[in-house]
Amino acid sequence: MNKGTLYIVATPIGNLEDMTFRAVRILREVDLIAAEDTRHSRKLLTHFGITNSLTSYFDHNKQVKGGLILEKLCQGLSVALVSDAGTPCISDPGFQLVRDAVKMEIPVVPVPGACAAVAALSASGLPTDSYAFEGFLPSRKGKRREKISSLCEEKRVLVFYESPNRLCDTLTDILELLGDRTIVVAREITKLYEEFLRGPVSEVLHGIEGKMVRGEIVLMILPSEKAAAAGTGEIEGLLEKYLCSEGISLKDAVRRVTQESGQSKSRVYEAALQIKNK
Ligand code: SAM
Repeated sequence: MNKGTLYIVATPIGNLEDMTFRAVRILREVDLIAAEDTRHSRKLLTHFGITNSLTSYFDHNKQVKGGLILEKLCQGLSVALVSDAGTPCISDPGFQLVRDAVKMEIPVVPVPGACAAVAALSASGLPTDSYAFEGFLPSRKGKRREKISSLCEEKRVLVFYESPNRLCDTLTDILELLGDRTIVVAREITKLYEEFLRGPVSEVLHGIEGKMVRGEIVLMILPSEKAAAAGTGEIEGLLEKYLCSEGISLKDAVRRVTQESGQSKSRVYEAALQIKNK
């Protein structure tokens, strides 16, 4: 018996006009739609007059549900996977299902459409020839700072999904750990209050501090040209100035030089210790 096809169907990230004709047709034609949240997807389907059967497929039932969906595909039925918004599998459930389907030689067909990261990048004004998509940063402060520090030498534009509640803390960490990089914050893309904030981290942070940031956010960070170019000489020169000539504390000198040079905090700290221990 021929196996059915698994369609990975992108849906809008806000503006329903971004639904594609093909997505509507596939969602009408398949035998079953697997959705991250069936109530949420039912509203979208109703808007487009789609009355097809829905089943849930989300992070906590993916083991069991994945098996059942694969069984149906093996019986020759076709299934469409959708998430709450955007492209399934991109910081959304779906990867394991696709991986297992590929292993079982079940045809997997993408039905492309909206994806917040790509939409944000396309209008960011940042170079788009290569970028590193990092999904969500860890929510715990320690882990988040560790992750940000680990990306300090990355030469590509960094792209993150971020929650509005954490944006200020994340930008503060970026300023401290990566220096005053150029960033773009894309908020509520395709929606009524769509907004792009562009500039050095310090300025964007200043603009939002004390304000309630709402909505969905993509954060993009330009690699530091200085980081690529700056040698140890520049760091040492700045550190000598602050530590030896101006006599400011090691902690403050490291903070200032990290921001001014765009070098990682750990690299600056190491150089500062060497100067102190001379
Ligand atoms: N799979 C989705 C995609 O293709 O974009 C992403 C799902 S992820 C769970 C949700 C995150 O994507 C949000 O927290 C936000 O960071 C980002 N996002 C989704 N819609 C957005 C929008 N309209 N504007 C800005 N960011 C958005």
